[in-house]
Amino acid sequence: MSRHFDAIVIGAGQAGPSLAGRLTGAGMTVALVERKLFGGTCVNTGCMPTKTLIASAYAAHVARRGADYGVMLDAPLRIDMVRVKARADAVSANARAGVEAWLRGMKGCTVIEGHARFIAPDTIGVGEEHLSAPRIFINVGGRAVVPDLPGIDRIRYLTNTSMLKLDRVPRHLIVIGGSYIGLEFAQMYRRFGAAVTVVEMKPRLVSREDEDVSQAIREILESEGIAVRTSAECIHFAPHAEGVAVGVECTTGDPEIVGTDVLLAVGRRPNTDDLGLEQAGVKTDARGYIQVDDSLTTSTAGIWALGDCNGRGAFTHTAYNDFEIVAANLLDGEQRKVSERILGYALYIDPPLGRVGMTETEARATGRKLLIGRRPMGRVARAVERDETQGFMKVIVDSETKRIVGATILGIGGDEAIHGILDIMNAGVPYHVLQRAMPIHPTVSELIPTMLGGMPTAD
Ligand SMILES: Cc1cc2nc3c(=O)[nH]c(=O)nc-3n(C[C@H](O)[C@H](O)[C@H](O)COP(=O)(O)OP(=O)(O)OC[C@H]3O[C@@H](n4cnc5c(N)ncnc54)[C@H](O)[C@@H]3O)c2cc1C
Repeated sequence: MSRHFDAIVIGAGQAGPSLAGRLTGAGMTVALVERKLFGGTCVNTGCMPTKTLIASAYAAHVARRGADYGVMLDAPLRIDMVRVKARADAVSANARAGVEAWLRGMKGCTVIEGHARFIAPDTIGVGEEHLSAPRIFINVGGRAVVPDLPGIDRIRYLTNTSMLKLDRVPRHLIVIGGSYIGLEFAQMYRRFGAAVTVVEMKPRLVSREDEDVSQAIREILESEGIAVRTSAECIHFAPHAEGVAVGVECTTGDPEIVGTDVLLAVGRRPNTDDLGLEQAGVKTDARGYIQVDDSLTTSTAGIWALGDCNGRGAFTHTAYNDFEIVAANLLDGEQRKVSERILGYALYIDPPLGRVGMTETEARATGRKLLIGRRPMGRVARAVERDETQGFMKVIVDSETKRIVGATILGIGGDEAIHGILDIMNAGVPYHVLQRAMPIHPTVSELIPTMLGGMPTAD
């Protein structure tokens, strides 16, 4: 059977459904193909369930610290992991059902469940059916990398997806990978009561960030009893009576760690290996990411790639912004470009890391003269009042143009407060505009003008 549409969208993740909404709104017929769960990674196995679990972990953490605030809990704290999981499942299920109902009720949109594969540049196959359209939008996302490490085939391991099915607290969770996803799970499970060890191959955690950020994050995690093993250059696995033995060969410490469960959090790979891209002439890079130009068109005219699969972002907001760019260019006569956007993101450990623009290392590598402001969170009245003073904030300014080129807020409210800086960067105005604003007291944001006012020139 063969059907023709004005457009085909592959994947109901963070870009596809909204794009289907705009295209059908413009009068087009659209086929939206989803092979698994409506809402994709963010809704089902990413942002939503993890941030819901993190909220439970935070509640446990605050309850344990109750006495610091004069709030006495006389009974011992107990985590009911079945209820914790049910809460996360409910949040995901609700959002998933919302996306599905929206798409199924969308006039002009035909929802097809199954795995899409290209047959020709304008045709895909889904099971026995062939669908064709002059415009095809690929929004297939990615999945966890399972690294080819010695012994991996001999052990049971968890990924971010199977981790969410746990309704028990592991006795000792070993997290392989000390980056964004791994650290969120590490702290969350420590707060649920597990012993946790983070094993990272590189010499420091979250190595894309500046060294001072990596170090502060390590201190935050270690202060909660999480063991961190960096420079684990030769990770290998073996079954053990307790669960799993992980050989690490670190420069310091024991060469082997024994745990009950292992979580692999060593990166993501795009879902492009089984998409028949070669039938459509769509090129990928060496890691499988679809190559796109500044307007997200692939190497084949009439085919676009949005979201994680194009390697131009790895976040829900970058996927959604991809949708906005493609829709504006196709339907609103605009000429928006991916290269024009300023990247911001957060790491949701507690306290969170809010980031925007360049790191200090990246800014220094450009060779330009910089002004750098830095303040510990202990200077933030709000943090002191809440007795949550871990972390610091840092801002980097181009001393010639007076524009902010990057910033970091590692501290309570950092994921929200960073938006003040993101907004001023998007406005394209000098840092004085933010420095002279009158912020609200007591907030985390109120220290930003003070920090900007006292910036020494960087060496
Ligand atoms: C544990 C974890 C936590 C995260 N936390 C955050 C966070 O806090 N904030 C944030 O911004 N980002 C977070 N992310 C990243 C975020 O989830 C992704 O960046 C985002 O979901 C990407 O959206 P997407 O639309 O590109 O792809 P996806 O959401 O992955 O959607 C792709 C869809 O395509 C479908 N599909 C794939 N191949 C085919 C095919 N051949 N045929 C039909 N359908 C197909 C898939 O089933 C899926 O539904 C997190 C990710 C993980 C793993």
